[in-house]
Amino acid sequence: MASTSKIEIKKDALENNIRFVESLLEPETRLSAVIKGNAYGHGVNVIIPAFESLGIDHFHVYSSAEAKAAFPHKSKKSTLVIMGFVYQHDYAWIIENNVEFYISHIHILQMAIEAAQKCNKKARIHLNLETGMNRDGISVRNLKKVAKLINENKDHVTVIGTTTHFAGAESIANHTRVRKQFSTYKKRIKQLYSLGINPGIKNVASSAATINYPETRLDMVRVGILLYGYWPSRETFIHYIHRRKDKSDPLRRAIMWYTEVNLIKKVPEGEFIGYGMSFQAQHNMITMLAPVGYCNGYSRSLSNNGRVIVGGQLAPVIGTVNMNMIICDITNIENVKFGDQVVLIGKQDENEISFASFADMNNSLNYEILARLPENIDRTICEEVEET
Ligand SMILES: *Cc1c(COP(=O)(O)O)cnc(C)c1O
Repeated sequence: MASTSKIEIKKDALENNIRFVESLLEPETRLSAVIKGNAYGHGVNVIIPAFESLGIDHFHVYSSAEAKAAFPHKSKKSTLVIMGFVYQHDYAWIIENNVEFYISHIHILQMAIEAAQKCNKKARIHLNLETGMNRDGISVRNLKKVAKLINENKDHVTVIGTTTHFAGAESIANHTRVRKQFSTYKKRIKQLYSLGINPGIKNVASSAATINYPETRLDMVRVGILLYGYWPSRETFIHYIHRRKDKSDPLRRAIMWYTEVNLIKKVPEGEFIGYGMSFQAQHNMITMLAPVGYCNGYSRSLSNNGRVIVGGQLAPVIGTVNMNMIICDITNIENVKFGDQVVLIGKQDENEISFASFADMNNSLNYEILARLPENIDRTICEEVEET
């Protein structure tokens, strides 16, 4: 299905964000890029080659399905790690292709060992430890059994790394819980050594922990949202900026999502616009139709609420977001013509429609909207360098 809108990814923004994260890290700490959710909606097909050309050679996805989608776009030298769900029938493909994966439960370890025996090749695993999030992860009561299984199956599994995930490092409200998790993690690492297991790469920090808890950066950080140019929370941004002289945002949004003006219409005062009665013209109006709706990733929550940029100015969405289109108010914008560019996310002239990773900032929409951008939208990389 061809799409009615396009996405452009700005490579110099990605480069800026990667260099920013790298600037926080000690030289021995590696940076892995999290590219789950189709690279946070940006598209693994463009993000992986772009990240690789900017020096990244390590990627994290969520599932075996995402690993299969990402795999053809990566170079042989790059490592791909699955953090979560694996279809049982995918283990053979994963092991054959040296894809690494988290072991979050002893049953998963057993399945992995069986699959590796069948493939006659070692499974490359990361031990995901339960430290207090109580979502996934190997619980302490199974640690001995896990170590025993690994030690008995050294021909079938190699421990590449040991990880855990914090339950909300983006908010100071969770400070005590996160600190406790980190100290539990360190305790478990010692236990692993004493059980004869080398924990390998120690990797626990997401974007928020990388910023807020520098001591958790360890051997590797796995960073998603920052690389795309967004902060994990407003708090994290404030925490970072608070200690700096330069208060400007060091990140740059990389995505630009746009479509074009489909048609323009005059609507007299008093008329209702679109379905039902959610919007009534309070004066004579000029409206513009853009061919994106909720089936194209333009969330219905933006009804009477979202804004687009057309003719270099912000135009409010009026009425409800339809399945395939939105209606926008361009009464006060001059010279808008059929076929003009309509920016849904990104910049045009001085204006920017930006999506935050969180929903509480003025003029920003939820990060969920990014992650839900449909896969069928054409995505291209833009190599041009923008002046800042
Ligand atoms: C999504 C995710 C990350 C990356 O989170 P960001 O906030 O985008 O940096 C890291 N670890 C796990 C387990 C995740 O699910």
